[in-house]
Amino acid sequence: MDTKLLERICNENACGGAAITSLDQQALCLNHFLLRCYAKLEAVDPRSQKFHEDPVDLPSMRAFIEECSQKALEISLQSENLSNLERGRLLDILLWSGELFVLLRAPRITFADSTPLGESSKPARAASPRT
Ligand SMILES: [Zn+2]
Repeated sequence: MDTKLLERICNENACGGAAITSLDQQALCLNHFLLRCYAKLEAVDPRSQKFHEDPVDLPSMRAFIEECSQKALEISLQSENLSNLERGRLLDILLWSGELFVLLRAPRITFADSTPLGESSKPARAASPRT
């Protein structure tokens, strides 16, 4: 199924590069895959400055993080002509999503610490059952 991606074009606006993978069912070139992973991981990382307390759907967040790391691993195993920088970034995403996955398994600790004052009326994120 994924082999068809090789003939596809990156979904990002005005990119036109050859898609190397897909994320969230959109074909992406390596560069845009990396950019999207970084943007999304930053948004869900409680330690990040870009983290904001939007209501998030924990299961779908986990699914995205899993997809990120899965695809990053696939790319690094399947692509032979990656530069060291690209490999480094893929590894970075792998490690980062691994960390986040662990953090999100214990949401009460992490998210409680980063909750701003006056947010106590919010329902706990840990309420949803684990899959
Ligand atoms: Zn692109």
